[in-house]
Amino acid sequence: MMQRFLSLCVLAKVVPCEGVIRLSSRRIPEGTYHRALKAEAEVVDGNLNDLLWDLTLYRHAMQRIVDALWDLDRVPNRSQMHQLFYQLLRSYGFRAHVARNIYDYVLALVKATRSNNGSRPVLRRLSARLDYQDAKVELNKGVVKVILRDKWYTLKLKHRRDYIEKFRGLRWKEVHVKYENSKLFVSVIFEFKYHPYVPRNIIALDINLKTIVAYDGFGVRRFKTRFADALSKRKRAEELQKRYPRRWRFNKRILNRIKSLHGKARSIVVDWSWKLAKQIVLKALRRGHAIALEDLNGLKKRASNVSDVAWKFTMFAYRKLQHAIMAKALEYGVPVIIVDPRNTSSVCPICGGKLTYIHRLAICEKCSFIADRDTVGAMNIWLRALRVLHAHAGACGLPPSAPPVKDETRQRGRKQMRG
Ligand SMILES: [Zn+2]
Repeated sequence: MMQRFLSLCVLAKVVPCEGVIRLSSRRIPEGTYHRALKAEAEVVDGNLNDLLWDLTLYRHAMQRIVDALWDLDRVPNRSQMHQLFYQLLRSYGFRAHVARNIYDYVLALVKATRSNNGSRPVLRRLSARLDYQDAKVELNKGVVKVILRDKWYTLKLKHRRDYIEKFRGLRWKEVHVKYENSKLFVSVIFEFKYHPYVPRNIIALDINLKTIVAYDGFGVRRFKTRFADALSKRKRAEELQKRYPRRWRFNKRILNRIKSLHGKARSIVVDWSWKLAKQIVLKALRRGHAIALEDLNGLKKRASNVSDVAWKFTMFAYRKLQHAIMAKALEYGVPVIIVDPRNTSSVCPICGGKLTYIHRLAICEKCSFIADRDTVGAMNIWLRALRVLHAHAGACGLPPSAPPVKDETRQRGRKQMRG
């Protein structure tokens, strides 16, 4: 293993080190993160209507304080808040600490809205946030108990058992209850510590519409995506909208068809992303690899023949996959490196020269390196991630003795360097 790690460092030295680490290349830092268990719920002990009434009062009280604060020139401090609103909230039947939670929450909401120059917040949702004093989470029974005013309600989580099981043993921090579209939902926010291991190598992922290319410094692996399937469903929905420019909004049959196509496109992306994310993260875990991804925020539209709608959907798909991979990595303690995406497919990974493209084939005129576009992307992501890793470990000056070169990619690189 040591040998393998050294060979990585040596390879890094082969590449001219002119670039400094760009600002957006970084590791996901260790620390405390949150994960939410989200489930539909039903009231099994207590009355749904009573709960809805409690939620309504909760919203009502909150809105009253928002309105009162909004008319003031200066946002009051916490003790003034207490003076102004404590009795009012108590008169709604809220317990002392709930009253405090409510005005604290409103204070934060109004401050945030003001600093964003937003307009007066209007609370539409029936929802409440509860902490350990007003909620009990009993995952072994699959229930959450909550109290808003004077009654406890037992809510049964309607979700797969194995999904709920995954949160057992984690420390929960907050419970959110929400009523929407005649359904009750519960989210339990869990806190967990992310302590990624020290990686032995990196697996770099270049995400494209058709394939995900994975590169580990030795070879390339490709995963076919389902994004194109999803996109074609989206396109069919848009065609329907174009074909019936006025009717589609009012014709129930067309509208349902469009909605279902959009829904299918979305669920293809979401389901597939979670599936692939798990596969990739578990593999990285088994091998002790870090995962490297491009920072999507810097990603520009690559092909001009892609429509804006298609591009928007593509970005949605990329973000979903990226999010799924990061969430899974955090769950399993796998290190994640986010790299600057600029020029990942236009710079030669061997000599740093500019690449020329013939369709998807990249050619470096300086060192005659040849590879397809996705491979180039993944190799460059890998190299950038390696620099981030070394900057962290401070392992830049490593012994010059290189272990024997076996790998195909590096042999190709070497040959071309000589030539
Ligand atoms: Zn080159």
